[in-house]
Amino acid sequence: MSINVKRPNGTEDILPKDVHRWHTVEKIARDTAESFGFSEIRIPTFENTELFQRSVGETTDVVQKEMYTVMAKETKFTLRPEGTAGTIRAMLQNGLLNEALPQRVFYILSCFRHERPQAGRLREFHQFGLEMAGSASPSADAEVISLAKSILDRLGLKNIELYINSIGCPVCRAKYHEALRSYFENRKDKLCDTCLERLGKNPMRILDCKSPVCQEVAKDAPVILDYLCEECSEHFDKLKKYLGNFGIDYKVNPKIVRGLDYYTKTVFEFVTTEIGAQGTVCGGGRYDGLIEQLGGQKVPALGFAMGIERLLLVMDKQNCEYLTPRKCDIYFATMGDNALEKAMDISHKLREYGYRAEFDLMGRGIKAQMKYANKIGAMFTVVIGDNELETGKVKIKDMETGSEVETDLDDTFRMNFESLYFNKMMNNLDDEEKFDLK
Ligand code: ATP
Ligand code: MG
Repeated sequence: MSINVKRPNGTEDILPKDVHRWHTVEKIARDTAESFGFSEIRIPTFENTELFQRSVGETTDVVQKEMYTVMAKETKFTLRPEGTAGTIRAMLQNGLLNEALPQRVFYILSCFRHERPQAGRLREFHQFGLEMAGSASPSADAEVISLAKSILDRLGLKNIELYINSIGCPVCRAKYHEALRSYFENRKDKLCDTCLERLGKNPMRILDCKSPVCQEVAKDAPVILDYLCEECSEHFDKLKKYLGNFGIDYKVNPKIVRGLDYYTKTVFEFVTTEIGAQGTVCGGGRYDGLIEQLGGQKVPALGFAMGIERLLLVMDKQNCEYLTPRKCDIYFATMGDNALEKAMDISHKLREYGYRAEFDLMGRGIKAQMKYANKIGAMFTVVIGDNELETGKVKIKDMETGSEVETDLDDTFRMNFESLYFNKMMNNLDDEEKFDLK
């Protein structure tokens, strides 16, 4: 079959058979963030373009090349390319920063960037991210990094390296920019056009350029860590000490500057080499100046974002376990209208108690109905025909073992089914899980 209109390049359909993979990441990320005191925030899919220009920054790839912007009734809107700008805007607009600090929020959202689609790089992708506002202490940096690490560990991921760096504050960065500028001025002829522009406005961005030629030029560039002021240097040392206390392995990598303009002091990335070139599964850092830049008070803040598609790529590659999708608990195969009505009635009641009940909606014969029950992985089945309606008795069949238990088709049905269901659940738990239940 061919359809006329297909999905846009760089977008994906997430099908029912795959959605449990997403649920796994979302649930683990959500539970972990909540255990660290974070609550969920939901923000608009689009914002005034100016928000991203002012926060993400004019010299970044995201703002220069990747934003989806539309002009609607004389206002310029942009589909969010990331979650931090909108989240901070929402915190400011709703007065969250006037409440008890630190404010801690997380989000699960789609982002839009006009990039060249490839494995791990989409035009609509999804992030789990979070922001903490109010703390200037390096303990907050350690807290946020250890939260990210806990999520990765709980997803079962291995061989993911943590790189950290400090890109200093405006004070130390001014001196560093000078050094960088004179380094690149001497090698100007080799830089790409975008980097030439960055040279004037924000030379540190050159270190983040994806072009192999620019990367080669940048190889021996001055290193920010040599230019840190005393405060930034002390902050970085403390962070390293706290990470050590947590037993979290890391590597200091002065090449990590992060793509967005708003970072200060700590920046970090979790990177794997197992899924090709797009190996950064999580990126984050501190952005002490952003809130003030967006018109708020001077409130230090930090956060990170994880690319969910990239996490799933690594999870698939490493055969990590996903939450098992729940299937049909009980399927009623029916013969005739009266039987169907009975099945509809019982299914309805069972659903009120949280069970997944199904019956035939296709007018299939009994054999085809049983085949269908098998296909959807029904745990139990019940056949209802004239005979069963007359005697008021049915057999509940365990589809895995084939064993059958006779029971009345009246109001006691639910309780009888329930006891079979719980017995089966208990038998399926391993001993350790049973112990947890006690
Ligand atoms: P990259 O260097 O790979 O382009 P980035 O620095 O642009 O990443 P961030 O803005 O920090 O990425 O976004 C956080 C995370 O979101 C990334 O670490 C990555 O996991 C994910 N991500 C970013 N862009 C995409 C994309 N186009 N498709 C899928 N995931 C993405
Ligand atoms: Mg990018």
